[in-house]
Amino acid sequence: MTIRLVSRRRFLEQTSLATALALTSDWSQAAESPPGKKLGVALVGLGGYSTRQLGPALRETNFCRLAGVVTGDRAKGEQWAREYGFSEKSVYSYGTMARLADDRAIDVVYVVTPNGLHAEHAIAAAKAGKHVIIEKPMCNTVAECDAVLEACKVANVRHSIGYRLFWDPYHTELRRLAREEDFGTFKKMTGDRAFVMREWRWRADKKLAGGGPLMDLGVYLIQAACMAKNGAAPAFVTARELPKTRPDVSRDTEETLQWTMEWSDGAIASFTSSYQQNHDHFRAEAPRGWIDFKDSAFSYKVGPVETSRGPLKYPAPNHQALQMDDFAQCIQTGRASPVTGDMGRRDVVIIESIYRAMASGRREAVAS
Ligand code: NAD
Repeated sequence: MTIRLVSRRRFLEQTSLATALALTSDWSQAAESPPGKKLGVALVGLGGYSTRQLGPALRETNFCRLAGVVTGDRAKGEQWAREYGFSEKSVYSYGTMARLADDRAIDVVYVVTPNGLHAEHAIAAAKAGKHVIIEKPMCNTVAECDAVLEACKVANVRHSIGYRLFWDPYHTELRRLAREEDFGTFKKMTGDRAFVMREWRWRADKKLAGGGPLMDLGVYLIQAACMAKNGAAPAFVTARELPKTRPDVSRDTEETLQWTMEWSDGAIASFTSSYQQNHDHFRAEAPRGWIDFKDSAFSYKVGPVETSRGPLKYPAPNHQALQMDDFAQCIQTGRASPVTGDMGRRDVVIIESIYRAMASGRREAVAS
């Protein structure tokens, strides 16, 4: 088998303009700084993802920078201000988000709190006149997604979802294979995403997470399957919850869920997400070939990935830096984001259908 080392030029040819703009200078860095100011980003929620991924990524961005935080811990916010070099005036609490309206240093608010709080925080940001990025999954319910989209429309601000894998080269190749039907149309998809949750956390709480591993992990499989189907949502779903092995951890949400998604062209995806297993795999098959994300399919560093033509080997970019720089460029140029709130809503529609199928035991149509 030959390793497919795709040149940067060829890769850029394969990617959308949006991605290409962000990848022109270096795989691990965003593009050259443009003239003009970097947009100011405020992170809402200084938990694990903000601390370990988004904050550090904002040191690598060229079109935006960390300019504020919203946190329940004032002292922590002031420490972030010192570390990242922004004004302590731009440290807010969840209750003072309305004051963001007067803060000219902040252009974009990035909501990184538990899923059940995304709608409240995104709407507060939109009302303050700020563009919004919301972490995945967009919200607990479709109704909440609609409320966020309406608030953004009324405030005339842009919205985006933290779907960082849109800036991963392997997932970009999956989209290219689908778009160009290089192997034909993908007809069969399989995958698992799971980790072992040793003790209860908000991610297993119905109110704060909206559900169990389907919300947190399954959304990645749904994203990949929709990429393989060129953005099309499935028409029908079925779902089956497996017996709980740790009911003390997964109290009011599922522990392990197996589900299927069926498209109108007959394509079918069979997936599992769990809080008591360890998996990170996705495979898509078409009549003339296949792509297999054998491990770490959705990690910060994706791979190994093989295709029926041989293994793929791409450099590992900083997903989050590219994602945030792309949104900043969308705002600056008026270009559409490839990962808008409408896509986030599509995925929550699918998730709601899967939970309906889990409850009914029947094959359920996916609402539009
Ligand atoms: P976390 O538990 O580490 O942090 C959550 C933050 O929200 C904390 O700062 C916490 O203090 C704050 N918070 C505010 N109100 C809260 C409440 N009522 N209960 C609990 N916490 C509250 O979680 P995280 O891993 O940073 O995840 C945050 C969001 O980011 C989630 O939506 C998650 O799905 C998403 N996320 C995305 C990725 C990705 O790769 N795109 C990775 C990790 C997390």
